[in-house]
Amino acid sequence: GPDYVRAIAPYQAGKPISEVAREFGLDEASIVKLASNENPFGIPESAKAAMAAAAAELGRYPDANGFELKAALAKRYDVPADWITLGNGSNDILEIAAHAFVQKGQAVVYAQYSFAVYALATQGVGARGIVVPARNYGHDLDAMAAAIDADTRLVYIANPNNPTGTFISAPEIEAFLAKVPASVVVVLDEAYNEYLEQKDQFESTQWVRKYPNLIVSRTFSKAYGLAGLRVGFAIAQPAVTDLMNRIRQPFNVNSLAQAAAIAALNDKEFLRKGAENNRAGYRQLTAAFDELKLEYVPSYGNFVLVKVGDDDGAGARVNLALLKQGVIVRPVGAYGLPQWLRISIGLPEENARFVEALEKALG
Ligand code: PMP
Repeated sequence: GPDYVRAIAPYQAGKPISEVAREFGLDEASIVKLASNENPFGIPESAKAAMAAAAAELGRYPDANGFELKAALAKRYDVPADWITLGNGSNDILEIAAHAFVQKGQAVVYAQYSFAVYALATQGVGARGIVVPARNYGHDLDAMAAAIDADTRLVYIANPNNPTGTFISAPEIEAFLAKVPASVVVVLDEAYNEYLEQKDQFESTQWVRKYPNLIVSRTFSKAYGLAGLRVGFAIAQPAVTDLMNRIRQPFNVNSLAQAAAIAALNDKEFLRKGAENNRAGYRQLTAAFDELKLEYVPSYGNFVLVKVGDDDGAGARVNLALLKQGVIVRPVGAYGLPQWLRISIGLPEENARFVEALEKALG
């Protein structure tokens, strides 16, 4: 294979519950998983019902163009349907963008401590990643604008960012977009957008009208509770969308996923309940961190990054102690944060189990 493929370090996903149960001799039902920023309420009932109804047609291929889902998204976000690209999760969108706009030898700009898939998508097309040092664990947009060179074709920005939870306000992003050359495509990855409080929300999906080089990426994996189904989408002007759809696999979003996503999109109550639980869970976790005198990065997502020790073995050590107690969280050593763990916000009782296990783990 190409050397740029051999150079890729594999993505490290959260350990599945079944694997932890086997490895540590635990009962699956007793395990708490707060590792993959999943929705603690699981899949909405409305989406389950839509899937059951769609199951009868599984002998047929899915709608390759996702007509109904795109129509629902177009209505929700007030853009024409041909401004939308569907993805097999938003990871697919991130990768499609790299394939559509970047070739071998060109460059992609992204931030230190930002989402791991940016590097994977970049390396997958044989491009050079320009990793811009973070500021306060988040994106340094001035430095990112300055890092764009003649080879750069794409920039990835995560807002809120994973794994740190940092957030960039609308004026800061607009100032950045004003500086980016028209030949560079900007992917604004808003996987955690639905968790933002009203005061922080802005109409990024309308910004694509003003910025022909902007792609806004969203997902059904987090607030909508459909991580296992793999549905994401992008909004961009038709010239950009057209190229993305040429490279997209024709049946990348399956029939059950399309049906479930339409139902979830219209399930306002599920979103409201999830956002409320997230805010309460954030207060619960951060109150415990304050009490334990642990540093954490203020988070706008459904997870919190917490520093569990001062030595570079701390993250792995505390993670192992948690696993032994049946609590799965995410070590972030691969992100260059070996003293930290990322905790997804769960249900109140799950958060409490984690805090109890953390106290024991820290001795
Ligand atoms: N972007 C960010 C910032 C994420 O944290 C994630 C999920 N880990 C994704 C994209 C991809 O999620 P999915 O492919 O499930 O939509």
